[in-house]
Amino acid sequence: MIQEPKGKFIKVRCKCKNEQIIFGKCSSKIDCLVCGEPLALATGGKSKIEAQVIEVLE
Ligand SMILES: [Zn+2]
Repeated sequence: MIQEPKGKFIKVRCKCKNEQIIFGKCSSKIDCLVCGEPLALATGGKSKIEAQVIEVLE
């Protein structure tokens, strides 16, 4: 599932089951701290979430 969230922080779950909180408007790629898989990609100012979104934290 790919989303373009407008929230500030997003909790995502990686394929490796690691849960990580990332910033929704990141301007750079975010990798999983455990396995190195990309969790979010930066696309022109918006972040594209590649991992499973569990929760959007307002
Ligand atoms: Zn991972």
